[in-house]
Amino acid sequence: MSPKKLDSSNTAFPLTRREALNILGSGALLVAAGPVSARAALQSSRRQSKSTPITAAFPLTDVRLLEGPFLDAQKRDEAYLLKLEPDRMLHNFRVNAGLEPKAPVYGGWESVQTWADIRAHGHTLGHYLTAASLMYASTSHDEMKRRVDYIVGELKDCQDAGKTGLICAFPDKSTQIENMVAGRRAIGVPWYTLHKIFAGLRDACLFCGSPLARDVLVKLADWAADITKGMTDEQFQRMLGVEHGGMNEVLADVYTLTHDRKHLALAERFCHEAVLTPLSEGRDTLNGLHSNTQIPKIVGFERLYQLTGKAQYHAAAEFFWKTVTGTRSFATGGNGDNERFFPITEFARHLSSAKTMETCCSHNMLRLTRLLFANDPTAAYGDYYERTLYNAILGSQDPDTGMMTYFQSTRPGYIKLFCTPFDSFWCCTGTGIENHAKYGDSIYFRGRPDGPRHDCLYVNLFIASTLNWKEKGLMLRQITSFPETGATRLEIEAASPQRFALHIRHPGWAGTASVSINGKAAKSSHKPGSFIVLNRRWKTGDVVEVDMPMELRMELLPSTTDTAAVVYGPIVLVGALGHEVKPGEDLHVNERTIGSVFNDPIAVPTFAGEPAGIPGKIKPSGAPLTFKTDGAGHPEDVTLVPYYKMAHQRYNMYWEIQNA
Ligand SMILES: [Zn+2]
Repeated sequence: MSPKKLDSSNTAFPLTRREALNILGSGALLVAAGPVSARAALQSSRRQSKSTPITAAFPLTDVRLLEGPFLDAQKRDEAYLLKLEPDRMLHNFRVNAGLEPKAPVYGGWESVQTWADIRAHGHTLGHYLTAASLMYASTSHDEMKRRVDYIVGELKDCQDAGKTGLICAFPDKSTQIENMVAGRRAIGVPWYTLHKIFAGLRDACLFCGSPLARDVLVKLADWAADITKGMTDEQFQRMLGVEHGGMNEVLADVYTLTHDRKHLALAERFCHEAVLTPLSEGRDTLNGLHSNTQIPKIVGFERLYQLTGKAQYHAAAEFFWKTVTGTRSFATGGNGDNERFFPITEFARHLSSAKTMETCCSHNMLRLTRLLFANDPTAAYGDYYERTLYNAILGSQDPDTGMMTYFQSTRPGYIKLFCTPFDSFWCCTGTGIENHAKYGDSIYFRGRPDGPRHDCLYVNLFIASTLNWKEKGLMLRQITSFPETGATRLEIEAASPQRFALHIRHPGWAGTASVSINGKAAKSSHKPGSFIVLNRRWKTGDVVEVDMPMELRMELLPSTTDTAAVVYGPIVLVGALGHEVKPGEDLHVNERTIGSVFNDPIAVPTFAGEPAGIPGKIKPSGAPLTFKTDGAGHPEDVTLVPYYKMAHQRYNMYWEIQNA
């Protein structure tokens, strides 16, 4: 299963951007929303403690994608969002409120008996609110806002009719929540599902400026506080043994809207101590745990660190990130098998699974990464973000249908399977529609105006885009065909010259990076995984060109010495093994049967030689990012293409290396 999107808050009196940044955890779009205590929120968050992030991502509204694979993916996602019908997603919300539904319910996890025990009914509506809100921020397309406003209005009607504050689409209404609160046996993961509704309303508030969304959200939060208020801490912790999404995070965000301590207290009650305590002490007790149950909890820890300054939260988040990205991840940035973390010595055993790397996990690792980067803008976070975005996320969407993966299989010779448009509605469909609506996020960060990096602009990702830095009256245009070439070009347009320190990430995968300004060599870096800093007065016409030579390398499967993936820059290459299917034939209804279909035998070549020598036996084959082994493959050579472009045929990611 899985989660959702950005952080933070708002206010009645329009905030200046400077003020807005103070509230926002790590940068999101700010809008004037409900009548609130933003002033109070401001005061509390103005404490310049170590927990106050020193940078923030630019809001999605200030970034626009230019032609390239990310814009293509965004367009496919938007087309799918337009195909989904709000009234169908609202069906059971209306039924539960005693209102006549306006259209039939969707299938899959939304209504079909096979999945009823998850109690995910209604999760799609929450994800949809987030995705449409993000898409509105990313495109300014009115239809997205119109849909968000319509859904929020409908939820308001349901909430009013239901009287308690709860809005849900569960077939047994609030029964399972009540069971959990009472400590009785409960079915499914109702808090997980409700988290999506909370988060969707937050994002409608943040990105579409919906005051109504704020009202509905606050009432829903008040319902949650009310229904759990009689629970002892022990009972609460027992309840948290069941997946509950990012309830701690979203309630922290609600607090920044209301400044009601009750909401912050509830956010902290939703922190699962059985996970928090060992992680904060630097102990990795993740083996066997459901990974996407944990990651959103950790996102919430870091968010709560920003708001409370409690070091334990940050220690847990930082350690978790390090252990997952450093010891538990595959080359694409994905993790887990069959949705769970496994012992770090057992990668070889799990490689043949078709159920590795649930896409939600990558989605949530990126949400955690951007929060950590805001606090500590170091290139390691940018490197992981790039790797995961270009491989696990961009590679999760079918380039033909726009549908999305659940598992991203490492099984040699397997195939990507994507959801169906109207009969799946997996968790990964939900996070999937969010993923491709926010590619403008985390390309650019800036120092917070009142912080130590106030004059810093960070170019964290190399994605063709424009940035409108309003406070400086500055437009930055990034022209690049990366990753097809290891270079990017930044063009500056400024109403008046502006002094700031331009930080350009020198990726960990590039041995060197060199920068020229207006055609003259300016700086070169021999420190992969750092930022190149160019501090000067920038003016219209200034052009920065960055050169980052990309090279092939082998990345060993963790805990092995004879199994490796081929990686080019940040791009994981996979072998194209043929056995093609037509687009659409790989859309799949039931994620549980992934691995038990498309199992006809496939011959997967092995590589021969020392791992370090294999890149020398791989040659460009003419087309961009396409290579062919030259004498390394046995019994035959193989064509290598980017994992993110692979669809509709069998592929291989990790190669067995003979004579290693
Ligand atoms: Zn998922």
